[in-house]
Amino acid sequence: MHKQNFKIILSFLLILVSNFIFSQKKFTIVLDAGHGGSDHGANRNYADIGRVAEKDVTLAVVLKIGNMLEKNKDFKVIYTRKFDEYPSLSDRTNLANRSKADLFVSVHCNSAQRSGAYGTETYVQGPDQNDTNLEVAKRENDVIFLDEKDKQTFGSYDASSPESLIALKLQQSKYLESSLLLGGLVEDNFVNKDKRFSRGVFQKNLHVLRMNAMPSVLIETGFINHPEESHYLASEKGQDEIAMSIYNAIIDYKKAVDRKSGGAFTTTKKPEPEKPVEVALKNDFRILLMSSPTKYNDNDPALKGLNYILPIKENGQYKYYYGVTNMASVKDINLKTAKDAGFRNAFAVGFMPNQKLNSGYYTIELYVGDKLNGNSFILQTLKDVERNKENGTFYYTYGKLYTLEDAVKLQKDLESKGIKNTIIQKVYK
Ligand SMILES: [Zn+2]
Repeated sequence: MHKQNFKIILSFLLILVSNFIFSQKKFTIVLDAGHGGSDHGANRNYADIGRVAEKDVTLAVVLKIGNMLEKNKDFKVIYTRKFDEYPSLSDRTNLANRSKADLFVSVHCNSAQRSGAYGTETYVQGPDQNDTNLEVAKRENDVIFLDEKDKQTFGSYDASSPESLIALKLQQSKYLESSLLLGGLVEDNFVNKDKRFSRGVFQKNLHVLRMNAMPSVLIETGFINHPEESHYLASEKGQDEIAMSIYNAIIDYKKAVDRKSGGAFTTTKKPEPEKPVEVALKNDFRILLMSSPTKYNDNDPALKGLNYILPIKENGQYKYYYGVTNMASVKDINLKTAKDAGFRNAFAVGFMPNQKLNSGYYTIELYVGDKLNGNSFILQTLKDVERNKENGTFYYTYGKLYTLEDAVKLQKDLESKGIKNTIIQKVYK
């Protein structure tokens, strides 16, 4: 062996060893008490205990979790707030990203129009899909533009650019699995230790999670507008139990992560082989979740919390497709997401972009049911609506299109005219 080579190998070994020693870093966790300051979150007055405000419950719970974690030398705890103040959503995510945190836990309380709703649920950031836009995001994040800073940060976020979307999706998918793990542990603890009712773990497009470069969960600890649950949320006992359950979930989560990485959160940095740049596939891929004779609207529980679903009606069956991508890696992620959500038999289906149908056509099913009155909104808005009657049911359809892309476009046009919940239908001749 050449002396020179030996020197190189020796110094390489030294680097490996020192990496091993110095990378025994603490597990950094960002605890985020939702809302605060002028943003009260969900709140309601009760005759006996006065006002219960989300911002107070979340702060109390987060401080309790932090107290327990700080006693463990393996953890470094960072709070987005320790007082009644409102850090903007970008402040919160910037703090988490800057501190290279390993985990982000946001604590919230729920409220519902329907007063009977109760129980806990945990949200993780689902992979974005092509048709995400700021409008959708704004709808789902009612506090997002509370301050000017957020507007500047998120206002420029261009979800319609395919490059930024693919990059974003790949990044998030790495954290999705871990986030689902923690979400499951949190809900398990609520159910088994505190005998709470769990509504489940869901994927949703939430800004406070989306911008995080680490596994992240948002925990809805209960409903402020549900009298019994609200009393629990406001009580010392309730807050103690919630904090303990989240703490236990975090401890179990870290154990699982440690097992995976083999050792007490130490990482020997292997030089990673350079990854080839992923080339786009010729076809678009959608994930077929299920075929059903039943038409489900966007938020139907049958769709298990998945967004970005395109139903296509064929031969009287509604086929529910999830996501669309021309990247193999994203296709795999979407398929896994579908299976994790409970669609065990889901599979990927290829669609050639802008392929013209050889026979038949696409049309938009506007409405199914009783005969529409001539003054109905649909018939007033559109001309040349086709009507068919089958077994006493009326089917109203509109348009003749030869590519799926054109059909999706027409469907969006109709939606902007106020004609919603339409279905693309494939008609064979
Ligand atoms: Zn909230």
